[in-house]
Amino acid sequence: MGNYDLIIIGGGPAGLTAGIYGARSSLKTLIIERGMPGGQAATTYEIANYPGFPGGISGPDLAMKMYEQATEHGAEFISGEITSMELEGLSKKVVVDSKEYYTKTVILATGAEPRKLGVPGEAKFRGRGVSYCATCDGAFYRDKHVVVVGGGDAAVEEALYLTRFASKVTIIHRRLELRAHATAQNKAFANSKIEFILNSVIEEVLGSDIVTGVRILNRETNLEQVINCEGVFVYVGQNPMTELFPADLNHTPDGYIITDENLKTNIPGVFAAGDVRKTVLRQLVTAVADGAIAATSALKYLEVQE
Ligand code: NAP
Repeated sequence: MGNYDLIIIGGGPAGLTAGIYGARSSLKTLIIERGMPGGQAATTYEIANYPGFPGGISGPDLAMKMYEQATEHGAEFISGEITSMELEGLSKKVVVDSKEYYTKTVILATGAEPRKLGVPGEAKFRGRGVSYCATCDGAFYRDKHVVVVGGGDAAVEEALYLTRFASKVTIIHRRLELRAHATAQNKAFANSKIEFILNSVIEEVLGSDIVTGVRILNRETNLEQVINCEGVFVYVGQNPMTELFPADLNHTPDGYIITDENLKTNIPGVFAAGDVRKTVLRQLVTAVADGAIAATSALKYLEVQE
């Protein structure tokens, strides 16, 4: 139970940065996160494009430093599952594991979660060969053949990471061109452990107790083929995490929250930051910038109220 000036929902880079800025502005600030702090950054092996770290920095290390910085400045942090929220009105209520928290402002920074392929076998073999996190599970596939599904930055970068363990990594992508940035593409093309199967989609994940392969379809030739493999890493994009958000919160057809340039939503006192928001770029650097802007906007909103 407690009364806050600012409650931040989500403890990824956007939420933790909002926590740093909120607490440093003397707002009584609470960050609520259902898992570990750091969001997707905490499950990214290496982050190569965050300014200030030539040579890259470990995602878990950077996430932990952001968490330490937020709490060092006075932001409170709790881990728990939100069961309901009421965001209208001057006093907003967030319920976490049946405890009620009240606040004058809210920043929604829940991020996004891996999109599923939605094919037979995917759910059945999740944790038994199907994974959405190479950093978490890659080491289980030492000297094994794994496939990575997708052609974006995440698929190609995580495929490169998986070559540390796997004997072979096959990237299966539905088009002929990859979407990933050129540096990652060039590294992948040059890596002798990586093979590509393009223009192809996975129709089924095969196995008995554990994954033994995937059945794929070439979209051009219409030919089916079974690829034997022990692991399937799915990187086909993300969906915003918006469950429990009120239906009258403005959002795009695919669920991303619409804000103005101050990161205000259409509900007074409610702001959004990071990957959950409709934006032109979803990167660590934009998430932390969002966190700073959202917390500053929350402060201005409170100043006007008082
Ligand atoms: P993404 O950029 O949306 O790419 C998703 C990939 O999966 C695309 O290649 C897409 O194919 C494919 N795909 C989507 N649905 C599919 C389906 N049902 N079956 C098969 N393939 C499917 O997603 P992401 O790679 O997860 O990246 C998300 C965001 O994070 C992006 O903005 C990305 O730039 C950013 N990110 C950046 C970095 C970095 O800067 N180092 C690292 C990771 C992520 P099509 O190409 O045909 O659409």
